[in-house]
Amino acid sequence: YDEVAPLGDRELAVLFPLATMRLCTSVCLSARQQADRPDDAYLAVSQGPIAATLPKLAATHPRLAHYLLRAACGRPAVPHSASVVAWLGAQAGALAPLTGHDLATTPVLGLNLGAGDPIVSSNQADNDAERLGRRIFDRMAEAGVEIAAGGYDEPRLLYASDAYAGGNVLDERRTVHLGVDVTMAAGSPIYAPLDATVHAFERVAQRLDYGPMIVLRHDPPAIDGADVPPFFTLYGHLSEDSLDGLAAGQNITKGEQLGRIGSAPTNGDWWPHVHVQLITDLLDISCNFDGACRASQRSTWLSICPDPNLLLGIPDDVLPRPEITDQRAERRRRRIGGSVRLSYPRRPLTIVRGWKQYLYDDTGRQYIDAYNNVPHVGHAHPRVARAVAEQWATLNTNTRYLHDRLLDYADALVARFPAPLSVCFFTASGSEANELALRLARAHTGRRDVVVMDAAYHGHTTTLIDASPFKHDGPGGAGAPSWVHTSPIPDTYCGRYRADDASAGPRYASEVGVVIDRVAAGDGLSAYLAETCPSVAGQIMLPPGFLAEVYRRTRAAGGLCIADEVQTGFGRLGRVFWAFEEHGVVPDIVVLGKPIANGYPMGAVVTTADIAASFDNGMEFFSTFGGSTAAAAAAMATLAVTLDENLQANATAVGGELSRGLVELAGTHEVIGDVRGAGLFVGVELVRDRSTREPAGDEAGWVVDRLRERGVLAGTDGPHHNVLKLRGPLCLSTGDVALVLEALDGTLGEQAEHGRPD
Ligand code: PMP
Repeated sequence: YDEVAPLGDRELAVLFPLATMRLCTSVCLSARQQADRPDDAYLAVSQGPIAATLPKLAATHPRLAHYLLRAACGRPAVPHSASVVAWLGAQAGALAPLTGHDLATTPVLGLNLGAGDPIVSSNQADNDAERLGRRIFDRMAEAGVEIAAGGYDEPRLLYASDAYAGGNVLDERRTVHLGVDVTMAAGSPIYAPLDATVHAFERVAQRLDYGPMIVLRHDPPAIDGADVPPFFTLYGHLSEDSLDGLAAGQNITKGEQLGRIGSAPTNGDWWPHVHVQLITDLLDISCNFDGACRASQRSTWLSICPDPNLLLGIPDDVLPRPEITDQRAERRRRRIGGSVRLSYPRRPLTIVRGWKQYLYDDTGRQYIDAYNNVPHVGHAHPRVARAVAEQWATLNTNTRYLHDRLLDYADALVARFPAPLSVCFFTASGSEANELALRLARAHTGRRDVVVMDAAYHGHTTTLIDASPFKHDGPGGAGAPSWVHTSPIPDTYCGRYRADDASAGPRYASEVGVVIDRVAAGDGLSAYLAETCPSVAGQIMLPPGFLAEVYRRTRAAGGLCIADEVQTGFGRLGRVFWAFEEHGVVPDIVVLGKPIANGYPMGAVVTTADIAASFDNGMEFFSTFGGSTAAAAAAMATLAVTLDENLQANATAVGGELSRGLVELAGTHEVIGDVRGAGLFVGVELVRDRSTREPAGDEAGWVVDRLRERGVLAGTDGPHHNVLKLRGPLCLSTGDVALVLEALDGTLGEQAEHGRPD
């Protein structure tokens, strides 16, 4: 509104009371009209939403609402904030030092404790006062300083108690810190930087709150006849005895000792530091004023609480500011090749931390990761992180030396496979592993041609682009070379043989068999290469009987059966550890990647002794990073966690709930054409019309964007990009699934209203 018809300052000042009063008027009018005409339901049509809204408005301080409205219209939120800032700026040099040292010249360590800073652990249990404090004081000792400071305008994940939270993990928390934290040894004295009166003081008992705190009021003298409004300074996490003998209204002289730095647990259970905050409007709060705000209200709160370094005088370059910026995408455009795509290109996400099934952006917002399958056992899993860190610090070398790590992992991996799959090769990626699989097949059969599935993706190397119709038949592709033969996707939703047809599997297989036989009769067949559940092709579950028949035909034609289990291995499907197990087949070569080491670069090929022997033809196979000691440690820890935490069973339970919920949503949302998958490998095919099954690709992209706004990360797959893919770490919980379903329900409701996106 303001963009089209700019509001004046005085209009903005009365907007909130008028809007609130308008709703009150509506309640009164409706009550009167309903009394007169009780049968007229229309008279009550707005009353539900008003009844929900008015209490929220009543709970909002009108001056805060005013500031929020001003900020929304691009004005400085607090009109008088600038004059306080200017006055304090003019006092620089005349203030008493907070710590008793001149902080302009005393060495101070700039300390970032933001959402992405590694000194903070993703595991909140490691951020207790003692452990975080130890890490902070170690850094200070390394830097040879006794004071560390920072944190203004810093989005933090340290505020882990309910006092900072919305209702559930997707609700916005208060993350942005509004003070500067000055860290010193517990008991260090702090002094009032300015003349003041004691406004209030309190011992706040709740954990992760202020502990003993003092709020001072400052009344600057008028300058050149112009009044500078009174303002406040807040000091939190003090020692218990700091409040002894204080009285409200008491005068404090600049430089007078105000108290001492407290310690855990009485200081709010934090590491020893004082939180210093500058406040231009206390909003009638008696003492315990918020020290952190929601990122969505950041500009308003930074105006209410300007940078307290105005009181401290620490050189600006010592206090690095975290960046919440939209400039990164531009920076990336200049330095990273354009074909390296971003998710959510219109509003890309900066992700700075992961923990289990959650990711966090640079504002500290939490997302449910229902997309990434590489962090198989969860982001930043402590066991995997420790295994890698310890191995890295001990030895990380290659497969040319003997080492138990690699052998132990190879044993553990082979133990998960049926005979005769017994020999491993390790690589640094899934692409490398598929490359190797093709070489093994060529060496073993003496032939080169392969049959692949339409819309398949197997990797990004030259050979694998050739073997991936999803790429070579897509934008920028040059089609299949003569050694690659494409067979139809056994798609039981849109393909020629539908799921309700029990003979679909064998009949699909005979169509593929025709391709196999043609290749065998031509240059000869080296291998049939396929994912056991085509994922990029649209999260497809192969129809029963299909794979067994295709493998039979492949072997009859003299070819090898390669199962690309890069997406589907390690228990993701819940009911089986490897997808091929569902089909009663044993491949000749299995290709593994993505989840194998929870994100440490790693791929593997598991095959038979015979095939490995054929490949041992004089030419060495060496992949510099493949099977490195640290990769083996990461993979071993990942497998151990998968088993110890029963993640396969969790995939069954949680994935089952997800699929059941999605089927229920299909009852109300026409756009859901099909729900398919197993465990936490789930596809939701969106269609414009269930009878024609016309793919709703644009709609699916729109849904993924809106899900992100609601805090859920998902993706699309399929040749028409119309299949929502829901995967995510195997540690997703039933609570997460309920939130994902709620978000999808809301988004599809919006989508129905919105229609086809432009
Ligand atoms: N095979 C399949 C089925 C894949 O999904 C992928 C990666 N998306 C690859 C192979 C290639 O793996 P990488 O990206 O590790 O090279």
